[in-house]
Amino acid sequence: MNQSITQFEFEKSLEFAQRLDASDPIRNMRDEFHIPKHNNEEKDEIYFCGNSLGLQPKLTQEYLHYELSQWQKLGVKGHFSGDFPWMPYHEFLTHGFADLVGAKPSEVVAMNSLTANLHFMMVSFYRPTGKRFKILIEDHAFPSDHYAVESQIKFHGFDPKEAMILIKPRDGEETFRTEDILQTIEQHGDELALILLPGVQYYTGQVFDMQAITEKGHEVGCKVGFDLAHAAGNITMELNKWGPDFACWCNYKYLNSGAGSVAGCFVHERHHSNKNLPRFAGWWGHNKETRFKMDNQFDPIDSVEGWQLSNPPILSLAAIRASLDTVKKAGGIKVLREKSLKLTAFLRFLLKQELGDDIHILTPEEDEAHGAQLSLTVNTHGLDGKAVFNRIENAGVTGDWRYPNVIRVAPVPLYNTFEDCYRFVQILKESLQTDEQTAS
Ligand SMILES: *Cc1c(COP(=O)(O)O)cnc(C)c1O
Repeated sequence: MNQSITQFEFEKSLEFAQRLDASDPIRNMRDEFHIPKHNNEEKDEIYFCGNSLGLQPKLTQEYLHYELSQWQKLGVKGHFSGDFPWMPYHEFLTHGFADLVGAKPSEVVAMNSLTANLHFMMVSFYRPTGKRFKILIEDHAFPSDHYAVESQIKFHGFDPKEAMILIKPRDGEETFRTEDILQTIEQHGDELALILLPGVQYYTGQVFDMQAITEKGHEVGCKVGFDLAHAAGNITMELNKWGPDFACWCNYKYLNSGAGSVAGCFVHERHHSNKNLPRFAGWWGHNKETRFKMDNQFDPIDSVEGWQLSNPPILSLAAIRASLDTVKKAGGIKVLREKSLKLTAFLRFLLKQELGDDIHILTPEEDEAHGAQLSLTVNTHGLDGKAVFNRIENAGVTGDWRYPNVIRVAPVPLYNTFEDCYRFVQILKESLQTDEQTAS
């Protein structure tokens, strides 16, 4: 793949940041969100934690109220009445999801939670045999993904020590080289049952080459799934074209649907009509025409909807609908990604200019290899990392600090500004001053 870095001309000043905001075509989207106030006072927080929990769109309350009032007025008839009847409610999210991940509408659905979906997908797509029983994941996978994989392996009677292939970056490197991932797949080819990798790595912010990984995985004859927790709503994707067997994501990070909201799931269309695939079934995955006949002959819907289990929590789906409508109002994921590249590049520029050797950015710089998030290690000059972080927080920044000295910050194109980036870097710089420096 050709790696490219979009070059921008930046200056390090507040005025310049404000000019970037003034010329930002989606600057008004910030008004569509509730921005937390620092110490509950007048001033907005610098909220750089949208990679962990996205902020609340203003539409959310309206959409939730609508469903609450439908329930008040209609009771059970809410399933069939109003503008958004509950029976087909998940279908109102289909097009928004399809646009976000580059899928056909039949390939995406809102259901369950992220880790639950990883399990349900592995029921169908991790089918170990005597020789082909291994799962390739990364050594530093998000804990829930690691546990899910480990427990699936044990469930099938294999030993995780043997069956989990954990890939790491090269010694002395922090991020992966695609060529190394592909080589590992090749090397373990006929033992691999499944590859489960992130679209965007949660710790370093690195974007994986999903297309190349999928092609190589299929070439050696294994299944390929992606965890898109940090990718959905962050980067553009072409899942239908790239062809992974499945993908799962949560909707509370870059998709702003509220803590613990219902998750998203993708199953490639090539699997939809295969009724012999093992799956853990529930009535919501049954043919809609005959679902209420209740004759106990399971007839799965021939789309990703065939993997649904239960009638979904409508209040959570209403929040997702609000989020997707907000993304749509901004012009869609391509528009967000365009601003995101510029926003993150500006943050990177300021960090280098203002902090020089005191920070090291783990996140790759190539456009294709990063999303909104930058992960930094900070030289605290002997100050306790936690003390520095407290100073930053007290100055009105919400970010994510991992002991001893890693900060993850994500300027989110929907609601963060270039001025946020500027102010954050100033605050970080001041927080790193030792008391002597501050006094002089
Ligand atoms: C956020 C995140 C999760 C969280 O899982 P839940 O089931 O939603 O609690 C899992 N995996 C990854 C990679 C994540 O980033």
